[in-house]
Amino acid sequence: MKTKPLFIVLSAPSGCGKSTLIDLLLQEYHDIVYSISCTTREPRGAEEDGIDYHFLSKERFAQLLAEDAFLEHAEVHGNCYGTLKAPIVEVLAEGNSMILDIDVQGAAKVRERVRALPNTDPLKIGYVDIFISPPSIEELRDRLEKRGTDSAQTIERRLANAQGEIARAGEYMYRVTNDDLTVCFKRLCDLIDALSGRM
Ligand code: 5GP
Repeated sequence: MKTKPLFIVLSAPSGCGKSTLIDLLLQEYHDIVYSISCTTREPRGAEEDGIDYHFLSKERFAQLLAEDAFLEHAEVHGNCYGTLKAPIVEVLAEGNSMILDIDVQGAAKVRERVRALPNTDPLKIGYVDIFISPPSIEELRDRLEKRGTDSAQTIERRLANAQGEIARAGEYMYRVTNDDLTVCFKRLCDLIDALSGRM
């Protein structure tokens, strides 16, 4: 079945199950491609170039920036991060969809860029942004504590960030609450099916 290629921007505060949801989406939809960001930081642990990130030198990153190759970019903790535009254009041209996993600030930059594109641009035609919300801040605190990977201080920082991000959820076209992973995934699939004309 021929479907409309989507350019999906997904944001969620940490602890909202975003990575799991993206993994499930990629398993469910073989025509959705995950956008691999570029970064100037060193790979960590088992991270692989071209899978987790495109690991670039500062010089190469600067060169791409000068060529306006990034749809958006940001500096985080002294390292540069960016989303290349060309792979998104290519994936959509092939009739597939692209999913971008990005924070609220990055998503706002992408939204601005897309808004400025002509109405006939495939990125604008296929654009959709979705915010995954936790059921409540208390529930998010509970999940982060149970995960057991963060110190109390880090949890507080993540919660403060989450509150800031949730306050901007209204900027998104769609908001899906992750109260239950299976239900949330089903809602996301229904949304993608409806938007891509799968049903
Ligand atoms: P990490 O180095 O821990 O993988 O990521 C650090 C931060 O960079 C995270 O907040 C992550 O969301 C952000 N990040 C990763 N890729 C991109 C990107 O392509 N664009 C922007 N703006 N931020 C990114």
